[in-house]
Amino acid sequence: MKGSGKGGRTELTDSAWQYAPAPQEREIVTIAPSYGLFVNGEFAPAADERTFATINPASEEPLAEVALAGEADVDRAVRAARTAFDKVWGPMPGAQRAKYIYRIARIIAERAREFAVLESLDNGKPIKESRDVDVPLASAHFFYYAGWADKLEYAGFGLGARPRPIGVAGQVIPWNFPLLMAAWKLAPALAAGNTCVLKPAETTPLTALLLAEVCQQAGLPEGVVNIVTGAGDTGAAVVAHPGVDKVAFTGSTEVGKQILRSAAGTGKKLTMELGGKAANVVFEDAPLEAAVEGIVNGIFFNQGHVCCAGSRLLVQESVADILLDRLRRRLGTLRLGDPLDKNTDIGAINSREQLDKIRDLSAAGEAEGAQRWSPPCQLPERGYWFPPTVFTGVSPAHQIAREEIFGPVLSVLTFRTPEEAVAKANNTPYGLSAGVWTEKGSRILWLTQRLRAGVVWANTYNRFDPASPFGGYRESGFGREGGRHGLEAYLDA
Ligand code: NAD
Repeated sequence: MKGSGKGGRTELTDSAWQYAPAPQEREIVTIAPSYGLFVNGEFAPAADERTFATINPASEEPLAEVALAGEADVDRAVRAARTAFDKVWGPMPGAQRAKYIYRIARIIAERAREFAVLESLDNGKPIKESRDVDVPLASAHFFYYAGWADKLEYAGFGLGARPRPIGVAGQVIPWNFPLLMAAWKLAPALAAGNTCVLKPAETTPLTALLLAEVCQQAGLPEGVVNIVTGAGDTGAAVVAHPGVDKVAFTGSTEVGKQILRSAAGTGKKLTMELGGKAANVVFEDAPLEAAVEGIVNGIFFNQGHVCCAGSRLLVQESVADILLDRLRRRLGTLRLGDPLDKNTDIGAINSREQLDKIRDLSAAGEAEGAQRWSPPCQLPERGYWFPPTVFTGVSPAHQIAREEIFGPVLSVLTFRTPEEAVAKANNTPYGLSAGVWTEKGSRILWLTQRLRAGVVWANTYNRFDPASPFGGYRESGFGREGGRHGLEAYLDA
């Protein structure tokens, strides 16, 4: 099929049925030429007036210049958060805090379309995902945690205990779910009575800055939420600041380890949500059509930029051929292209750097002898794109079976017995998530007891709910976000 170049959409196979473009209007969002840091309730340039550009990865078009926070700015933000904690937010009754958090939840819902378009522009993800997943879930997180703000004593953290907030939380987040990760961090911290300094990822700062506007709109007292934009140095300044009592980090295992080293001995409380290399295990008795959808959702949702992505497919040998045939057919129907087109399934890779990483690891897969396959697919000329890719003939020793690729690349391995499936699934330094596909409930229970993963989905994949805790262990990190468990990380219980 023909690619339609910049801003267009590319169909992956010939098809009798052509879709007309269904672009989401971009005009709902007004992007300012430049953005300041959000400190003490106001937007202001960085002390040294440095900035960086954020671009649309689907077109490489610059979207805005954003302030680059240095140590002096981070210091100002932490001081603002401390004052707000001591004077306003800490002493405020939970029911009163809840009103602000509900307001934020409601305003996100009211401005959902604006958030969705901005997220797709800055991140490259398809509008149907930002519209139907990221933004509604972000709002739901604020709604959910608002409900806890006046019930902390009943959260079950110890009989008769009066859980207290920790103080100032320094929070650093990645680019794959920019608004949603901000919500995962801010909502429980605020409900528990902490104040926050949040550092969004350098390639996706815009929805966090729109969220700052929402905080203003909600009348949130100044200094309760502060947003400092910048890259790794800004993040390092946040986590190393002596005025930060609690560090919450979501990102790569490598950076997580650096943060652990810098926080060692400081007494700061930590939670780490890191990388993953999840096994999605399909048994021969699984409903194969459903499993195919689950595999597609597991690894091609959000271009595979998902920490819990089902990046290793483990399929029972007896059904491997038929499952892979169906999977290839299904991949041929995916539509790659303009993230703002409502028909698009696969959007842009978030950055040049990430695209290079995906290319390098895929080349390593071929060099190690795995067979690479993608549906026929012409990529748009501008922007960062990678076709949905499946590697078969993968052995557990291959780099593509061991390392997190964080892209639309599936590594397929086979197994013969349930014991072999468990051994292969657990053969990873990570432990974030897994999937199991089988008709038998007893087999689901047998397997979930043996899989070393924080979350196991059965006959589904990538399902999230604010009431449900999420997190990993081993190199996937520690601590839980979501649910009652997510509050505990922000309480001095
Ligand atoms: P990254 O670790 O490079 O960056 C994450 C954040 O940390 C960014 O805001 C970055 O600016 C900041 N940062 C970089 N160096 C820092 C330092 N030395 N000190 C403090 N902050 C620093 O990761 P990424 O590439 O943005 O995100 C992808 C990674 O995040 C993947 O490994 C993915 O699995 C992981 N992730 C995990 C979860 C989870 O819940 N477990 C969720 C989403 C993403």
